[in-house]
Amino acid sequence: MTEVNQHKILLDEGEMPTRWYNLLHDLPTPPPPVLHPGTGEPIGPEDLAPLFPVDLIAQEVATEQYVDIPEEVLDVYRLWRPSPLFRAHRLEKALGTPARIYYKYEGVSPAGSHKPNTAVPQAYYNARAGVTRLTTETGAGQWGTALAFACAQFDIACEVWQVRASYDQKPYRKMMIETFGGTVHPSPSDLTAAGRAILAEHPDSTGSLGIAISEAVEVAAQDPSTNYALGSVLNHVLMHQTVIGEEALLQLAKVGETPDLLVGCTGGGSNFGGLMFPFLRERWAGRMSPTMRAVEPSACPSLTRGTYAYDFGDTAGMTPLMKMHTLGHDFVPDPIHSGGLRYHGMSPLISHLYETGEIEAVAKAQTECFAAGVLFARAEGIVPAPEPTHALAAAVEEALACKESGEEKVILTALCGHGHLDLPAYAAYLSGSVEDTSWDDEELQAAVAKALTKLPSTV
Ligand SMILES: *Cc1c(COP(=O)(O)O)cnc(C)c1O
Repeated sequence: MTEVNQHKILLDEGEMPTRWYNLLHDLPTPPPPVLHPGTGEPIGPEDLAPLFPVDLIAQEVATEQYVDIPEEVLDVYRLWRPSPLFRAHRLEKALGTPARIYYKYEGVSPAGSHKPNTAVPQAYYNARAGVTRLTTETGAGQWGTALAFACAQFDIACEVWQVRASYDQKPYRKMMIETFGGTVHPSPSDLTAAGRAILAEHPDSTGSLGIAISEAVEVAAQDPSTNYALGSVLNHVLMHQTVIGEEALLQLAKVGETPDLLVGCTGGGSNFGGLMFPFLRERWAGRMSPTMRAVEPSACPSLTRGTYAYDFGDTAGMTPLMKMHTLGHDFVPDPIHSGGLRYHGMSPLISHLYETGEIEAVAKAQTECFAAGVLFARAEGIVPAPEPTHALAAAVEEALACKESGEEKVILTALCGHGHLDLPAYAAYLSGSVEDTSWDDEELQAAVAKALTKLPSTV
């Protein structure tokens, strides 16, 4: 008789978390404050009011341990949550590893990624505040899709600036955003002063998330009925994503497992933080001791090679200053296929955890990641988005190390999205035309240092 493998570990709707977990409550030391670029002083709620509704501003600085998820948001979450946790038996077998690999799959959402977990509450709180339009940036198009879907739930308009490199590489994302009722512009665009300034200097600019953020922020700041929504980086975004980790904790408990290693890819840090934060709470409470490893692309290595410094969140310098791991706000990474990981900075919370030694980080080149993605697809039957193939490459590396050492580690990874709209990237990889680019260290450090000299003298 063959053993029956349990592939899926599911939760009932009634087991879905009804609260978000706020890491700020449990952090041993608070992260450095966000600063006003004009005064160099910590910002107050009034500084954020032109862009965000009061509820989200309150959540950004909230210190209570949990925040109740509004019933209207839970009702939308129930379209796809709880999401499945899978045991990757077939990948383990392909690798010949004694490690047990689990992946929490967020590709079941309407956008095909974790992004709706925060898009839905952001649209909800904005609609409740009387806002009629949200602007945003998008890289690979996942965030734009998620926000367009969320805005459709609460009857508000959605306008998206998509990074040019991704706009050209991933035309289906635009179609999906439009199907959900949103509007898409390639960025840099001639619709904003920020976009026009970039185009004047670099007419062929492939764009960056930093530039697209500048454009979306500029438009929102000029119109009282329009707000801006950010898909990653900020505290409230990472808090909304903790539904991922809370569910995964319950699911692993169902099969009697505690993880030894958590791995996640990091663009701005939201899927990694969302998975990891509840496990970090458990670690601080002494109930488990997993290692937490962030995986970033070597073409945009903000944690492993960036500087920990105050910097702008956008390229034009319109946002408050955040202390974070940064490659400099004018950094334009090579147009790699993981558009969602092409951000110059890193969430201040993730940066702070890295700085205080709570988490590790590694950088991976895209060909190694695609190899892991193809191996995973063939074994498990899901084509991963290019972003989480970074986490998969690190999980495979660890599983192969376990094969050497004979250790039966439990590895948990965030499979934060599927790659159905990223198939041209796989085609490019399979035809051998994906290349790795790497930065000369001196060149990179000089570029970072130069960007940081452009900060206001108040910092
Ligand atoms: C947006 C996105 C990312 C990067 O953002 P994080 O905030 O770091 O999670 C990674 N993977 C997918 C599938 C995305 O859509």
